[in-house]
Amino acid sequence: MTDYQHMLLAVEFSEQDQFVTLKAERLATLFNAKLSIIHVLDNIPMPDTAYGTIIPLDTDTMNELLEGEKKKLLNIGDQLGIHSDSLKLVWGKPEVEIIRIASQESVDLVIVGSHGRHGLALLLGSTASGVLHHAQCDVLAIRLEDGWAGSAMLAPA
Ligand code: AMP
Repeated sequence: MTDYQHMLLAVEFSEQDQFVTLKAERLATLFNAKLSIIHVLDNIPMPDTAYGTIIPLDTDTMNELLEGEKKKLLNIGDQLGIHSDSLKLVWGKPEVEIIRIASQESVDLVIVGSHGRHGLALLLGSTASGVLHHAQCDVLAIRLEDGWAGSAMLAPA
């Protein structure tokens, strides 16, 4: 079997996700493959205030932040018509968890964005290169362009 059957799209909840998501959706349709989506919680965003960044210590605030992350993933799932069973929200180090879930779910293509770093940033490594070097299956790294106009790409055909 040469066709991909199960693709795993890794999203970091950045503006550029939309570009990668659009390509992943088209690819999954072309191959008639199942599409799952993963987001790894490697940091919880802290709210900024007029006095700087407040670090929330109470569990209610942490739960709210977690709910916010869940909503973002469910929204992407809704947009693509993907059932919540195929949406994975996990804690950990992004490349480690992406690879672990890919192997656990028998994924045959992982799709990530790639910022195309150079120099020191490249040496320090990135999620994309971590996945590329250690995944057991194929990996598609989609080049992310700075200043990409996401809304134009998402306009209905
Ligand atoms: P990076 O190489 O770290 O700049 O990340 C590039 C790509 O890695 C993103 O476009 C996503 O596909 C993936 N990625 C980065 N962080 C995460 C995360 N926290 N959860 C899921 N995927 C991620």
